[in-house]
Amino acid sequence: MTRTSLTQLEARDDFISRHIGPSDTEQQAMLSKLGYASRAALIDAVVPANIRNKSKLALGEFFNPMPEQEALAKLKAIASKNKVMKSVIGQGYYNTFTPTVVLRNIFENPAWYTAYTPYQPEISQGRLEAILNFQQVVTDLTGMGIANSSMLDEGTAAAEGMTLIQRVGKSASNVFYVADDVLPQTREIVETRAKPLGVEVRTVAASEVENLNEACFGVLLQYPGVNGEVRDYRAAVEKLHAAGAMVIVAADLLALTLLTPPGEWGADVVVGNSQRFGVPLGFGGPHAGYLATRDEFKRSMPGRLVGVTIDAQGNKAYRLALQTREQHIRREKATSNICTAQVLLAVMASMYAVYHGPKGLERIATRVHRLTSILASQLVKSGYTLANSTWFDTLTIKTDSADQLHATAEGKGVNLRRIDASHVGVSLDETTTREDLALLLSIFDGAATPDMDALDADVDDAFPSDLARTSAYMTHPTFSRYHAEHEMLRYLRSLADKDLALDRTMIPLGSCTMKLNATSEMIPVTWPEFSSIHPFAPDSQTVGYREMIGQLEAMLCAVTGYAAISLQPNAGSQGEYAGLLVIQAYHQSRGEGHRNICLIPSSAHGTNPASANMVGMKVVVTACDDNGNVDLDDLKAKAELHSKNLACVMVTYPSTHGVFEEGIQELCEVIHAHGGQVYIDGANMNALVGVAAPGSFGGDVSHLNLHKTFCIPHGGGGPGVGPIGVGAHLAKFLPNQRSTGYTRDEAGIGAVSAAPYGSASILPISWMYIAMMGGEGLTEATEVAILSANYIARRLAPHYPVLYTGHDGLVAHECILDLRPLQDATGISNEDVAKRLMDFGFHAPTMSFPVPGTLMIEPTESESKAEIDRFIDAMIAIHAEIVKVERGEYDRMDNPLKGAPHTAEVVMADDWQHQYTREAAAFPVASLRKQKYWPPVGRADNVYGDRNLFCGCAPISDYE
Ligand SMILES: *Cc1c(COP(=O)(O)O)cnc(C)c1O
Repeated sequence: MTRTSLTQLEARDDFISRHIGPSDTEQQAMLSKLGYASRAALIDAVVPANIRNKSKLALGEFFNPMPEQEALAKLKAIASKNKVMKSVIGQGYYNTFTPTVVLRNIFENPAWYTAYTPYQPEISQGRLEAILNFQQVVTDLTGMGIANSSMLDEGTAAAEGMTLIQRVGKSASNVFYVADDVLPQTREIVETRAKPLGVEVRTVAASEVENLNEACFGVLLQYPGVNGEVRDYRAAVEKLHAAGAMVIVAADLLALTLLTPPGEWGADVVVGNSQRFGVPLGFGGPHAGYLATRDEFKRSMPGRLVGVTIDAQGNKAYRLALQTREQHIRREKATSNICTAQVLLAVMASMYAVYHGPKGLERIATRVHRLTSILASQLVKSGYTLANSTWFDTLTIKTDSADQLHATAEGKGVNLRRIDASHVGVSLDETTTREDLALLLSIFDGAATPDMDALDADVDDAFPSDLARTSAYMTHPTFSRYHAEHEMLRYLRSLADKDLALDRTMIPLGSCTMKLNATSEMIPVTWPEFSSIHPFAPDSQTVGYREMIGQLEAMLCAVTGYAAISLQPNAGSQGEYAGLLVIQAYHQSRGEGHRNICLIPSSAHGTNPASANMVGMKVVVTACDDNGNVDLDDLKAKAELHSKNLACVMVTYPSTHGVFEEGIQELCEVIHAHGGQVYIDGANMNALVGVAAPGSFGGDVSHLNLHKTFCIPHGGGGPGVGPIGVGAHLAKFLPNQRSTGYTRDEAGIGAVSAAPYGSASILPISWMYIAMMGGEGLTEATEVAILSANYIARRLAPHYPVLYTGHDGLVAHECILDLRPLQDATGISNEDVAKRLMDFGFHAPTMSFPVPGTLMIEPTESESKAEIDRFIDAMIAIHAEIVKVERGEYDRMDNPLKGAPHTAEVVMADDWQHQYTREAAAFPVASLRKQKYWPPVGRADNVYGDRNLFCGCAPISDYE
């Protein structure tokens, strides 16, 4: 009898075959469909030889794939080098309790975190409702007319606020004032943004805003200020308005439950962070920033907005309103470049508000305030002087021995805020207990614990009484219905059930790389060693974080061929912005600061021109040829024409058309010959990892989207991480955050995110992915992604023409199907096909990007052959329906495609008036009888929604 040896049995399960969908046999079948003997032969045919990597990925100790449990153990050991202390640092970040029902059912639930941005509203009603709740919470608490669906963080929200008021305001001034008690990191981000736009940022003392007599187009205030003070700005705002200036207020949402909201004292824009509504600190992010403004500015707002509309049957439906695809439509005239935002975190914050309701929030805020007042009163009794005379949750304490206090505090496991030699700061939060208060007091005054109840009986509220909030908020039923956990659980479940995410179906979105977000990658995110670290905790407590970050940077350098990486940008768009600033800094350092022309091929993603515009570059569009390639002749001519002022080119590789252009090296050489830099948009890195590296074939800067290629889930539209890689000559210009003591290099640009490492707490996801795949697994993933895309293109080509192909009729990791000939013949559009796919239980491919009238499909390496075939079969079945329209067997207007998606209500109605059967509507293929997703609404009416813009929870009468 043959026995399996212990050694053989010990060969552990490998992650590579868990991550990569098609098995070896299935890959062989796909290869033979394409006529290639091996994967290697296919890759040789697809990827131009001159850009191929000459050697294997230099991943060092991470070259060999690590089994899941081993990778988790290794990362745990690194995480353990972080020290979780009680941080009362504040400065925009507070400890919070994530309600466990939200933790488990949203944060740790793939139904929420693997969803995509809700561009297809019919399969996104759950998350759209959750985001709408977020908008309502922000609108109510700030007292403003309208709020968007999240910003990347508070600092960038303030910077966006600045450009918003410059756009809508009437002032001709280029001066923008920042109060001296605005969060330092916010001020730095505003300065970074202001510089290339020619905006002059000046400081005004918070106490002197009222006496500001200089001309300016706007002022940024903090409410309460970073030092705790709660100021009454009513008179100041009135005066500023009279002088033609506008006012942005950065406000704390929890404080606004007790304080008169800025909307009631004249603010034009209110921004901030919703982190303390149940989102872990995570060493700085991700968290959802917010931006609210007056109703009249809604069409100029950055970011996304959820609105209410009706569906084809006249029922209420949610959808993204107005400027949803703003960058793609307005390009360099777009109001901002934000694409990926912070949806998952906005959903969490909104559910924190739903869970607690207005009374719960008020109780939490009042308790925090009471504890702060008790602390203040005892500190004063102990002989301390406070620098602020009003407060919500923050005290600034005068001392002549700040160092001593910090040392004592750290010895007791506490981080105070470091201000200067004669001040320290304390900010309390919902997690603060009586014991914590006693601990804090023991740091300041070794004496006995005071009688808290006696102090409590003694202290009054400590903000100006005429700033006490009188208006109601969150009166909508959603905020009082779900306080019992059963109700909350079922509400979350009912919303998740309305949506299609990766936990139910492939999401074949071209350019977006919706690949597996493996559970082992997600597990470390909620480890307290990662989630409970304040972004400004002392370095000695973040050793593990910085070790993990250093390793990830090295991994990404190896993958991209660049010399250095900055992980600070928290989305691809922010990477573009940071990368262009780095290019500007480089030109300036060489005395060539006049270079301001950015060449961008017409096929570029909309964020490219929008980012170029944000840094004040002038966009010159270059043409594409009939094969979808960058027209090199046109590019050369324009590079020549603008030679003296050429700053850079921005190209995506492989192109957004899904092909490996043969001329990329030549393109890079042309740009370099004219003194320009090459920005390679790395969103398509999933076609390159291990095979070719932008830093090696001519790129100077690239951003990566860790939420595409490196497995961070899309979260329904964020979070993301958009690190930039740069060549050695640009390394010293990478972003700093000097205001909080993070300086990589004196030559570096200013901060582009509110935390030094951006969305640090989700970096373990990419670390785990790379560690578990190793060099060989990463390369295999790329090859299979390319194989699967070509398999789809080949099988669908007889039904839908593939618009662009490269060498041998092959595509890269995605393919564009041209629906325009069918539309001309039948009136059936790409949108009809996209909506019809929902009846089959699929998420639509990317619609009309980069070419109007097309669908772009990207399967990724993670989709099994079975799922890919199911998708292909659905597309073929849909094609057969289009043929019926063409032949007149289906009416051109009344057919299953135009009627899609079909809700259960429509299909089951007694009254069925259509010229096709119910069966054809609901069960076009037999397998759907066993497993059917019912779209919760029919086709959303976009025009109605924009004409009747409504961006809050439905009126109470709707619920009766
Ligand atoms: C996704 C994408 C971007 C923008 O990235 P975000 O992370 O969404 O900001 C830029 N370029 C291309 C080609 C993309 O696909």
